[in-house]
Amino acid sequence: KMKSAASPLRDMLKQLHAEFKDNHDGTVASYIPELAKANPDWFGISLVSIDGQAVDVGDSNQQFTIQSVSKAFMFGMAIEDHGRDHVLSKIGVQPIGEAFNSITLDEATNRPFNPMINAGAIAAADLIHGKDFPERVARMLKMFSTYCGRQVYVDNTVYHSEKKTGHRNRAIANLMLNFGMISEQLDDTLDLYFQQCSILVTSHDLAMMGATLANGGVNPVTGERAISAEYVKDVLAVMHTCGMYDYAGEWAFRVGIPAKSGVGGGIVSVVPGEVGIGTFSPRLDAKGNSVRGIQFYKALAEKYGLHAFEAK
Ligand code: GLN
Repeated sequence: KMKSAASPLRDMLKQLHAEFKDNHDGTVASYIPELAKANPDWFGISLVSIDGQAVDVGDSNQQFTIQSVSKAFMFGMAIEDHGRDHVLSKIGVQPIGEAFNSITLDEATNRPFNPMINAGAIAAADLIHGKDFPERVARMLKMFSTYCGRQVYVDNTVYHSEKKTGHRNRAIANLMLNFGMISEQLDDTLDLYFQQCSILVTSHDLAMMGATLANGGVNPVTGERAISAEYVKDVLAVMHTCGMYDYAGEWAFRVGIPAKSGVGGGIVSVVPGEVGIGTFSPRLDAKGNSVRGIQFYKALAEKYGLHAFEAK
């Protein structure tokens, strides 16, 4: 089982948790009833190092849906299934200053701008191999389970709500089909996308996923490989440039480590060669990022000099 990490770090995380606990800014996502039901006060912070030590503070056992955090990991899987060049012919890696559910494609190539917005994530889901739909779902779940070091599941109620209300995502998929950017298995691909968004995780799971990327693709606790080492940098690069929606540029400036957020309230981040960090706090800002998550990371980056380009 997992060792418990040194207490100075735990004390520091506890202190930051206490400091930001009473920030009630932002609103819980409400586009489906299941997300609106989240307790806005939930606040979990987790950290897992590449030698498998964990620190968990606050509501780190509370499950929530992974939502857009899944996009980074599915992009990695699409590259494993098809190679870099083919994936890049279907999905760009260019940040855009538009919302995550933007219906814009790159006019010159008809590609979605990047895999961290819905359009690019649906295009990535289209690329996930499998002889039939159940096999594609099974491979997707196995991949996430390997990152987490435990079997993860889809919240079926959330999945059905996502599917029922996902008209805008369906429009995006149809637009991409029109341009020949995704295949005709569009209904299956949207279902796969809705399912990946509906996987239940905790802040501890997110930290473990981040630690797996920090550790060159191998889960530091189970020793199982989740992604080949050569593609880890591809995932981290798009997280760094596009992971926080239209806040990505400011995040890179202020925090400076690759990260990915989701409207469930989760943020995963990676300090390569060191740690993975996961936060969960469901109140979101106008861009769909967790308010206390961002606040925590800004403070942590300042205290620890986490920024990738910090002068050493
Ligand atoms: N299921 C959501 C959607 O497709 C996920 C979006 C998100 O987390 N930003 O709109």
